[in-house]
Amino acid sequence: MELAYRDITYCKNVGAKRADILRQELGVRTALDLLRQYPYKYIDRSRFYRISQLEDEDTYVQIVGEVTEWHTIGVGRTQRLSAQFTDGESMIELVWFQGVQYVKLERGVKYLLFGKPSVFNHTYNFVHPDLTPWRKVTPEMTSGLEPHYNTTERMKKVGLNSKAMRQIIAGLLPDLKLGVQDTIGADVLERYRLMTLTDALLNVHFPKDSQQMQRARERLKFEELFYIQLQLLRQMKRREEQQGYQMPIVGSTFHGLYRSLPFPLTGAQQRVIREIHADLKSGRQMNRLLQGDVGSGKTLVALLCCLLAVDNGYQTCIMAPTEILANQHYETLRQFLGPLSVRIALLTGSTTPKQRQPIHEGLLDGTINILIGTHALLEDTVKWQNLGLVVIDEQHRFGVAQRAKLWTKNQIPPHILVMTATPIPRTLAMTVYGDLRVSVIDELPPGRKPVQTFHYTLLRRVSVNQFIRQQIDAGRQVYVVYPLIQENEKLDLQDLQNGFNTLCETFPEYNISMVHGRMRAKDKDEQMQRFQRGETQILVATTVIEVGVNVPNASVMIIENAERFGLSQLHQLRGRVGRGADQSYCILVTRVELSKETRQRMDIMVATNDGFRIAEADLQLRGPGDLEGTAQSGLPFDLHIANLSTDGQLLELARRAAMDIIDLDPQLEDERNRIYRRRLDILRIETHNWADIS
Ligand code: ADP
Ligand code: MG
Repeated sequence: MELAYRDITYCKNVGAKRADILRQELGVRTALDLLRQYPYKYIDRSRFYRISQLEDEDTYVQIVGEVTEWHTIGVGRTQRLSAQFTDGESMIELVWFQGVQYVKLERGVKYLLFGKPSVFNHTYNFVHPDLTPWRKVTPEMTSGLEPHYNTTERMKKVGLNSKAMRQIIAGLLPDLKLGVQDTIGADVLERYRLMTLTDALLNVHFPKDSQQMQRARERLKFEELFYIQLQLLRQMKRREEQQGYQMPIVGSTFHGLYRSLPFPLTGAQQRVIREIHADLKSGRQMNRLLQGDVGSGKTLVALLCCLLAVDNGYQTCIMAPTEILANQHYETLRQFLGPLSVRIALLTGSTTPKQRQPIHEGLLDGTINILIGTHALLEDTVKWQNLGLVVIDEQHRFGVAQRAKLWTKNQIPPHILVMTATPIPRTLAMTVYGDLRVSVIDELPPGRKPVQTFHYTLLRRVSVNQFIRQQIDAGRQVYVVYPLIQENEKLDLQDLQNGFNTLCETFPEYNISMVHGRMRAKDKDEQMQRFQRGETQILVATTVIEVGVNVPNASVMIIENAERFGLSQLHQLRGRVGRGADQSYCILVTRVELSKETRQRMDIMVATNDGFRIAEADLQLRGPGDLEGTAQSGLPFDLHIANLSTDGQLLELARRAAMDIIDLDPQLEDERNRIYRRRLDILRIETHNWADIS
């Protein structure tokens, strides 16, 4: 029977019990699914080492040699067997702690030793190595790359360790060699010089040599990335077919604001406004991502776009991830709008029912032009007369599901503009936001001085305090930020409170505000306002100020426990300063002992202000799965072999290949694209079923 339809129960070395475990633990149902369990590493069994060549712990090696002498130490449970092994040149110790009675050693016999060296007493030894008498070594044992498979505790309980998986998969090879149906068309395989699926599966498990293994993996990675792109691009096309509100007019409110601006727009701002306007007049629904580093002036761009909608008789809303930010946008926009006859309103979780009443009415009768708010905007009670454009600020906090909810709010969906200040590496932009068109503001307003960043340890607290005093005496204001994570909230709030108290003692002559997520919105707001008006010199805060807060006179950002922040958060926080004309500073305060990774993070922050470089470094250091949590979960299908942080080039090829297909046949309706449509269906089903179980 075809591998794709053969139940794993009937595969060699599996049986009913193991089949159950495999289904539960790996979501594997068919023989072909088993073949899709790729090895996570290979051990080169064709290479023989000399003892003098050992240089790595944790790398499997094999050595040919003899055992010269051995003795047991201790008795009973603490018994241990120690043997001396030589390759004719050097000696190394072998140690067994368990099953000592089963280890049979013979002098004068040639052995093949296989194991991982470990460091003990400044030298290498082997703990529990495999020793096989040379006369029993078969050629297969020492030829080529040996695949190793991930297993779980439950799998191991029924004997499904890596070796057993290897045997099961080896048992499928004769049938695999007869060929499986490919998932990529022959033309694409040829153009991108990729292996067939059959060859790739053969060589990913039992490669002829490392070059074949690489090519097999490349093909399988390509396939994963290709299908993700196919899905995203197909979605994008489908949405672009979607009728959208037409907004051709550039009218009085747009021009009114444009003319009253105290500064010219940067070239990049002008360009992205043109790009967005082109979408707005196209008659199709816009789905666009606006990327720009912190401080690049996205808010103003968003406002001008809202006014384009207003000029065409539509309502708009701007959604922010926090109340503080929503409040701030509201204030900023009000100032920008000044005397223009544009009605804006603010709606957040702390808007009272009484305040809501007129807002709801204004939205329904169309007299409110721009609504600013938080998630509260998504509530079902919020009804519009003609919502034409939705702007989502700092989208990484929102999540894909919420984004989707917006799309279904109207019959004709509103235009969507997603703004993100966290620069994302190209590879992520192409996947997580692969269904959006992208506009980039790649230019900061002129006259900005790059923020100078320093890394101090706690030991230099006195210098930090001196610096704070010097800056405040020069008329500046200072942020002091503490991390706060939910699991640790109590301790973190205590940290913040202690920090606040210490600052009050150290600087009795200054006024100090404090904000954190646990305060009532009203108090938070008041504290922010005081800082914004310059009544307080220091603002002590948790990450609630991370996104979007804009106080140009604040020119110093002190980040406490900086080791606990990720790179993109650090960059966001630093972006709160450097917004006025003064030289700004960011001081990262950490404890003294740091891991290598943390030290690298601090070094990158000190070395560069470039958000894109930081995002790339972040991806390298942390891997994509971690990036803002949205990365992996934002993908339509899981990645099993491809890796967004290292397979960027392959991703570009895969996207191009997918684009070529989608360009000609957006919904994959042609007969020759049937394999793609079918595979997408299968992937969708697998993704959903599996998500339901786990
Ligand atoms: P972000 O992209 O981080 O949201 P903001 O929109 O908050 O940036 O803008 C940062 C600051 O720069 C604001 O004070 C804004 O008024 C100002 N700004 C925006 N555009 C320009 C410009 N073209 N020239 C000078 N200042 C600008
Ligand atoms: Mg902003």
